[in-house]
Formats: sequence, structure tokens, C-alpha cells
Amino acid sequence: MIRTQGLAYQYPGTPNAAVLQFPDVDVAQGAVLLLSGPSGCGKSTWLALVAGLVAPSAGTVEVAGQPLHALKSVASDAWRARTIGFLPQKLHLSAALTVQQNLAMAQWAAGQPEDGTAIHAALQALGVDELAQRTPAQLSGGQAQRVALARAVLLQPRVLLADEPTASLDDEAAADAVALLLATARTHGATLVIATHDARVAALIPAGVEGQIGFQPLHLLRKQLSKEERSA
Ligand code: ADP
Ligand code: MG
Repeated sequence: MIRTQGLAYQYPGTPNAAVLQFPDVDVAQGAVLLLSGPSGCGKSTWLALVAGLVAPSAGTVEVAGQPLHALKSVASDAWRARTIGFLPQKLHLSAALTVQQNLAMAQWAAGQPEDGTAIHAALQALGVDELAQRTPAQLSGGQAQRVALARAVLLQPRVLLADEPTASLDDEAAADAVALLLATARTHGATLVIATHDARVAALIPAGVEGQIGFQPLHLLRKQLSKEERSA
């Protein structure tokens, strides 16, 4: 589950920038939240707030029953690694490492011993186990995204956050990517958030599959100054 209240964020060192203010959300465990809205409206910032990567300027975030402000900084890294799976827009696979080693890094980062069995199971679930010894440069874009998704769910997270997962994909690949995210989140019982400015994505998410998948559109809009406000 993800619950936010009165969430706002202003990037430090930008006193004249608008404060990003977010509508409250209450997403049940295992549900899907589509975070839509135009580029620059704050989707990636919202994901960073919910992942506990940045602290809000105002408001509260609760993820999987844990109020983020109550986490001590030392505990928060381990908590985040265990609880949050992140599929970033830029996949951040280490070019010098094999696919297998990239996934092992996620286990090390979480303070866990390397577990090759879990790595192969995660790769296999996404159909890329045979690519385990390749480096990222030897993968197609779609394969690299599957590897990054395998890494994101390797530690059985409660929440899976995907940032612009269909960027630069054609219609067929975009549909595949969304279907894969839905299926993967469902397998793990994870709450899924898809942040996107891609108008195609909404149509790719079923409105509700036997009550298993909640669907909650959230459209973030930056406040536009009216003509009167501008001239005042
Ligand atoms: P989205 O993901 O919806 O495109 P972002 O969350 O990336 O939007 O950005 C929201 C706003 O915050 C934008 O106006 C952007 O320019 C600004 N912003 C993003 N990152 C930074 C940063 N590191 N420093 C200052 N402003 C930023
Ligand atoms: Mg973004």
C-alpha cells in the first residue's frame, strides 16, 4: 500500500521554483496506480518521495505500513532495498558487469549474500535467463528492460515503481512492457505504480480484473498562472 497526505516538494536551491504539490493517494496493497501527466509535472519527483530517496518539504508518506519519516537513515537503505522495486527510466545497468552480476549487486546492496538461485529464477520469470552471462551492451532495448525488471523484483518488493516504462517504444513493445509490469507485480502481490506521460498507457491497463487489480488514475498538473495572475 501507498498512502500520502499533503505531500509537497521544492527542490533545494531553487527558491523561485514552484513548490510541487501532490494530491493525496491511498493505494491498496496489490493495486495499480497510473501516475499520468505532462512532462515536468512532478511524476519522477513523486516516485523519489515515495521511494524515500528524498524527504518531502511537507506532508507524509506511508509505504507498506511504514511511515517514511519514522525511518532512521541507517535503517532506511536496507528497508528501501527490501520494500521498493524501482524500474528507472534510464535502466542503470552497470556496463562493466554481466546481467548475473548486475542482479547480484542488488543483493549485495541489500546486505544479503549472493543467491544465484534467486537470480536465475528472477531472470527466468522474465524470459531472459539465457542472457545471464551477457553484458548490457549485448542486449536489445527490450531485453535490457526485462533484465532491469528482474532486478527490480529480485528481492520480492511490496511496491514496484516504474518510471516512463514505455518511453521510445513502438505500440507493440509498449503493450508488452505494460503487460509484463502488470503480470510481474501480480506475481509478487506488489503494489504497482506506472508513472508516464504516454497517453497510450491508460488503455493498456484493465479497469479491474476480478477485483485483483485496482486502477486509480491520478493526473498531476502544474498550476498554470492565469492571465490576471501574470499581469498582477
Ligand atoms: P516529470 O517526471 O513529471 O516529468 P519531474 O518530477 O522530473 O517531472 O520534475 C518536476 C519539476 O521539478 C520540473 O519542473 C523539473 O524541472 C523540476 N526538477 C526536476 N529535477 C530537479 C532538480 N534536480 N533540481 C531542480 N528542479 C528539478
Ligand atoms: Mg519523469
